[in-house]
Amino acid sequence: MFRKKLRHGAKLQMIWKMQEAALDFVIAALEKIRETSDRLPRASRLSVERLRFAAPNKADLLAPIRERVRICTKCPHLASSRTQTVFGVGNPDAELMFIGEAPGADEDKQGEPFVGRAGQLLTRIIETMGFARGEVYIANILKCRPDTPLAPFGNRTPTPLEMQTCRPYLVEQIEIIQPKVLVALGAVAVEGLLGSRGTMRELRGRWHSYSGTPLMITYHPAYLLRNQTPSEKRKVWEDMLQVLERLERPITEKQRNYFL
Ligand code: URA
Repeated sequence: MFRKKLRHGAKLQMIWKMQEAALDFVIAALEKIRETSDRLPRASRLSVERLRFAAPNKADLLAPIRERVRICTKCPHLASSRTQTVFGVGNPDAELMFIGEAPGADEDKQGEPFVGRAGQLLTRIIETMGFARGEVYIANILKCRPDTPLAPFGNRTPTPLEMQTCRPYLVEQIEIIQPKVLVALGAVAVEGLLGSRGTMRELRGRWHSYSGTPLMITYHPAYLLRNQTPSEKRKVWEDMLQVLERLERPITEKQRNYFL
């Protein structure tokens, strides 16, 4: 009886291993299609559901992408200047995902996005919304700090080519996390994500869409640090109130009247 049970267990394990190998094969094939063609691969709802049933959890799905990012040398100048890559941080099952432009010096040092002054302000915004920082997901368009070969310090805006090169990693992160709402922080993040330029004045404060996911565009926290006027801060907060409404989160009177 025991031996029979053991054999059954070993058989199940073998089936699971075969399923995993098949899944790896399918995912690798889909990745290849995505990399080599303009159009996203399509699959029926039923086959996606079947894959989801067989698929490991989201953290497991993110792990191999993190590893590919860790050793990425697609931008040789950034690969040689970075301390480390900055993949993303937070809850892989998050309903809310923030997207910034690129790591700065602090993020490059610590390997985590938004940990410098702008990051501290972002964390305050997230917490005032009623989330813990670890409940949401935070990532950047670029996973490497843009190099500044002519200056020993300071940050630089990523180039369109750098953003285009790194963007597929972010696309994969979003596809796995499937947040209910995305927030793009600043015009550069918008350009990296949507590929289109626009002024923040015309972009922020209203709903856009990224591949069917509602996208709110708001000012980058670094902009707020430079422009400490209550009216600009209030605008960001009003954008976040719209996000809370979209997520159907309760909003207190204190939150409604809040100024960052
Ligand atoms: N600014 C960004 O856009 N991302 C970071 O991670 C830090 C600062």
